[in-house]
This record gives sequence, C-alpha cells and structure tokens, in this order.
Amino acid sequence: PAQGLRAANDVTNPNDLDSWWLPFTANRSFKARPRIVARAKDMYYYTADGRQVMDGSAGLWCVNAGHNRDPIVSAIQAQAAELDFAPAFQFAHPKGFTVASRLAELAPGDLDQVFFCNSGSEAGDTALKIAIAYWHTQGQGQRSRLIGRERGYHGVGFGGISVGGIVANRKLFGSLLAGVDHLPHTYNRAEQAFSRGEPEWGAHLADDLERIVALHDASTIAAVIVEPMAGSTGVLPPPKGYLKRLRQICDKFGILLIFDEVITGFGRTGFAFAAERYGVVPDMITFAKGVTSGTVPMAGVIVRRGIYDAFMKGPEHVIELFHGYTYSGHPLACAAALATLDVYRDEKLFERARSLEDKWADAIFSLKGLPNVLDIRTIGLVGAVDLASRPDAVGQRGYEAMDRAFQEYGLMFRVTGDTIALSPPLIVTEDQIGEIADKVGKVIRAVA
Ligand code: PLP
Repeated sequence: PAQGLRAANDVTNPNDLDSWWLPFTANRSFKARPRIVARAKDMYYYTADGRQVMDGSAGLWCVNAGHNRDPIVSAIQAQAAELDFAPAFQFAHPKGFTVASRLAELAPGDLDQVFFCNSGSEAGDTALKIAIAYWHTQGQGQRSRLIGRERGYHGVGFGGISVGGIVANRKLFGSLLAGVDHLPHTYNRAEQAFSRGEPEWGAHLADDLERIVALHDASTIAAVIVEPMAGSTGVLPPPKGYLKRLRQICDKFGILLIFDEVITGFGRTGFAFAAERYGVVPDMITFAKGVTSGTVPMAGVIVRRGIYDAFMKGPEHVIELFHGYTYSGHPLACAAALATLDVYRDEKLFERARSLEDKWADAIFSLKGLPNVLDIRTIGLVGAVDLASRPDAVGQRGYEAMDRAFQEYGLMFRVTGDTIALSPPLIVTEDQIGEIADKVGKVIRAVA
C-alpha cells in the first residue's frame, strides 16, 4: 500500500490490514473477511460498529474473570501511574512478592516457590530448564531427557515444541531438542466417544512411561510434562486414574512431574489448579493466561520448595539459576494478578465453575445428534464438539464454523481442525450457557 494509505490508517477502523502478520492465523482468509473486535465488557466483545459477540472462548482460554472488570482495570491504571517498571534481576518491587505468596497459597502441596515469566511458552521452557538444572544440583547431570506427550501443547519455544506433540508445530523446525520422547495421547474415540468428564477408559496409557524408562533408563530422564487436560488439541480430559498412575511411575523412578496448567489453572476445571481436582501433586506447575484474566501478560512456574532449596547452595553472592526475562514479574502484571485473584476469591469463581459443570455439560451434550457431530467432550467449563471433516478438506468445516459463528451468529469460539472448543469466562450465567449452546447448534447446522 502507498505510504499515504498507511498514514491514514484509522485506529478503530483500519483500512490497511497489510502489515500485521497474524499469529496462528490463516492470514489471507482473515484479511479477505476480517474478524476484528474493538471493545469488550463482561461476557461480550463488540465490533467497531457496535455488534455484540458472546465470548465463548474467554479470549484464548484466558479471560476467566470476564472482560474489563472494574477492579482489575483500576488496579492496572493505578499501577501504571505509580511504578511503571522495576528490574527483577538483583532488584525487585513489593507486589511481586505478594503475588508469589498468593499463588503459593493456591498451589497444592509444598509448591511454594514462584518463578515469573510472561507467556505460557516461556513458562514451559523455564520448567524444563529448572528440571535439567535441578539434576545438576544433585550430581546427576546425565538426567537430561524430557518426556512429553502426543497431542500435547506447551507453547512455541524450542523446548515447548520439542516435548509438544502437534506435528504442524514440529515438522518445520529441524531436529529440535535431542533427548526427547513422548507418551501416547489419551484419546480413543472407539472407547471414549461422548464421555462426560473424565473417560473411564485409558488409565493404562500412563504405563507407557514404564516402556520409555525401560528403553532409555531412568538415570537419563529429567522430567515428564503433560497438560492435566490437553486443551489446544481439542479438549482431551484425562482418563480416570491416569494422572495418579503417572505420578506413581514418576515416583518409582525419581522422575520429576510437570503439569502444564496454562489452560487448566485458575478455575477452568472448577479448582484453582487441576492438580487439586485430580488429587495429584506434581513437582512443578506452569501457569499463564487466567492469572491476570488475560489483561496483562504474565506466566510462571510454581516449584516445590525442595527443588528451590537444592539450588540454594554455594557462595551467597553467586546467582543460583542463570535464567529470567526482562519482564519477569512486571509491575503492571503483578497489579493485574492481585486484582484478578481478588475477583476470583470474592466472587468464588472457581466454585462457580464447579457448580455450573453439570449444566454446562447438559447444554453442550444437547448438540449430540446434529449433523456431522462425531464426539462431544466436557470437563469443568470446557467443551469440545468434533465435526466430521469435509472430503479432502480437513479443517475447512471448522474454519467456516468459526467464521460464521463470529460474523453471523455473534459468538466467538476456537477451532482446532474440525473441532469446536468452548471455554467461556467463569462469570457465564445459566442463560448464557443456553445461548452459547443454541448458537453453536445453529452454526453446526449452517455448515452441514
Ligand atoms: N501451554 C498450554 C497448555 C497452552 O494451552 C498454551 C497456549 O494456549 C501455552 C502453553 C502457550 O502459552 P503462550 O501462548 O502464552 O505462550
């Protein structure tokens, strides 16, 4: 475009969409038929011309407290005026400590040490690095192998894509990290189709870790990383007993267990962390998204006290872990996190998610029997509907569903291939749950 056109680009109604290369987006289709939101409040987005769009995905699984909540907005505004930035390398600021101790209170067991990052990807890479460095502190530096899972998603850093199990994230990027292996994913439609909550079938899939240990030897394995519920590859709740079994096998061989709770944290499954729902205490939890309800980027790793203690050796003037980000524990993010955690507590939003779980599942399962619906899964305030692919065009029906939901039916949701994923803000009302299910039903018919 001509320079003049760029200069004229309006901030609310841009007429030049050329220069933003959008992430994880079909850029040409998007720019031909854009989906742009300009404002938001509570359960809704609004387009620049004032059209209301129900947020069926909490943005990107992050806006758990609902949009533009007054206490969070004010806290961010006040913080921007008080302290814009403070280094967290050799210096600090008060709110970082407060957020860390609040998170330690929410985390299970003795996970009470918080390392701050800015994105789920950074949190995943940080947890993997802490695992490897921990074994060095134990004189077991040969324990460097990392075990992920097929259909896992741990962000887009080289560590995350190496342990992740999404082929499109991996295939372009060469050999990635050496010394990685993968557990099988836990989805089996023949055994699990239309399970509400955790499927009965599949706990034995955790035993595959024994095979991996037999192949590589436990003395070479640093950690296993899994999402308690795989979100980005289509909502795969863990089979009953699976995570407990994984914990037992990790304990048997001294392997660290990392839960990636970037999606499942902060009430999504009805608890502060899914670890609590499943009664399993991992060695580290990664978090992001919901910690600030998506308002300001923040993420981190919550680590067991014993892992932190293992680093606190050697001369006291020496940095114990050579790792960190300029924006680790950013003051704006800390202010947003504190206000968000207050909203979760004061409005009992985690309990709310738990109490709505059955009504949510009823509403989403009412879509069974609609054209092309092959499977439905729900857990907490999350739901997924698998649609049959069109012949020779995997993902096309899903894409059209997402686009038409936004453009014609006033509903935002995510799709993975031909799977619709739903995860509303935890303030969703019963009526709005009905409205979401109704709109999804209309969209499914429209794309039949
Ligand atoms: N881990 C999980 C489980 C996720 O779902 C995501 C993002 O969806 C990430 C990590 C990556 O987070 P980010 O996009 O903030 O880097």
